[in-house]
Amino acid sequence: MLSISSASIAVFFSKTLFKQSSSPLFLTTMSLYSHAFAGNPVRTRTPKQTDPFSPQSALQTLKTLLSSQSHEPVSPDFKVLPFRKGRPLAGSGSENGRSWHLGWLSLGECRGFLENSEVGLGEDSLVYLGCRYDDDVVYWAIDVSEASGLVSKLGERQFCFVELRTLMVATDWADATDMGELAIAGHARALLEWHNLTRFCGSCGAKAVPMEAGKRKQCANGLCKKRFYPRVDPVVIMLVIDKENDRALLGRQSRYVPRMWSCLAGFIEPGESLEEAVRRETWEETGIEVGEVVYHSSQPWPVGPSSMPCQLMVGFFAYAKSFEIHVDKEELEDAKWHSREDIKKALTYAEYKKAQKTAAAKVEQMCKGVERGQQLSTDFNIESGELAPMFIPGPYAIAHHLITSWVNQVSSNGALKQESGSQSNL
Ligand SMILES: [Zn+2]
Repeated sequence: MLSISSASIAVFFSKTLFKQSSSPLFLTTMSLYSHAFAGNPVRTRTPKQTDPFSPQSALQTLKTLLSSQSHEPVSPDFKVLPFRKGRPLAGSGSENGRSWHLGWLSLGECRGFLENSEVGLGEDSLVYLGCRYDDDVVYWAIDVSEASGLVSKLGERQFCFVELRTLMVATDWADATDMGELAIAGHARALLEWHNLTRFCGSCGAKAVPMEAGKRKQCANGLCKKRFYPRVDPVVIMLVIDKENDRALLGRQSRYVPRMWSCLAGFIEPGESLEEAVRRETWEETGIEVGEVVYHSSQPWPVGPSSMPCQLMVGFFAYAKSFEIHVDKEELEDAKWHSREDIKKALTYAEYKKAQKTAAAKVEQMCKGVERGQQLSTDFNIESGELAPMFIPGPYAIAHHLITSWVNQVSSNGALKQESGSQSNL
């Protein structure tokens, strides 16, 4: 059993192994990847208030710089990521061998629009994301949805506001820089969406204003002063397993693209434990009774509905006690038991790599102004290649890792063991 716990080591291993082999090894190395949107390199910990990189100190420095009109190099430096309607500014990675990159702006580039009152953005519109001591930079995000003139100006630089889901599919999951930028963009989107949803105090109705460089908000009514913190909505996601017959339960929702099957998932109700939610959701959706529930890993998911700025997908193996399926057609289109062999076949490396390259090409086209506004609607380019009878979501989704971890287990004397290299480090 491997005891790798660092995402960077995992990525190194994955890259090394990938270059040496093709799909069979992929099946055993897949779970070594860190989850998409986790492992954010700029938010390992928030510096203490007196640190020049802390939200409060950095905002004060930023305000001083903006008012001084100085163009001298500063320490720490500042980089700002603009968003429009939940989409980060991004550029194609075709020039530097990457699949895409974020469209960071310098303080000088932001100065113009932050000082332009017609644009309606000020220093308080900037939201602190985190810092990196090694490159001496504090990172910020800003929502420029209302600043239409600014948007066309940014478009001239061959940058484009791209759906986070498109970037997610386009991300090269073996590239630590790509994965890091995706995590930063996910965190930034979650924070900005939360700010949009929390414009007013839910208690007295007065305006809620940003505090601590956007890390929290507070009611502006001096008699109320209610505090608001960014929220996370937990969702349980479970692979339901039939140990005796060596098969797993996968479901299909009507919104899925054709041939896609995935794990069951559901929201947690107030007053319920995670394990209880796993058992209740499985029973409600499929009529299957679950006994033992084993935690696997969790993934931030900032690409869900806009009413939920950031979901936290909490993944479990759920061992079935009953096996007869009764699908709740309001929740699911279908649910079936699938053998380990069939699921193994559905995990085809070539298709995931193809989907990633297709999405990266889409980002490039969008940044060049081709097909602007068109969304990537499917995971796979199904125009070419052999059609697999079923597939599961790509490596950007926790469902992929749950399923891959199970597929790579081997049964021995009734006990489940991990094959070498298949241990999840997530
Ligand atoms: Zn209030």
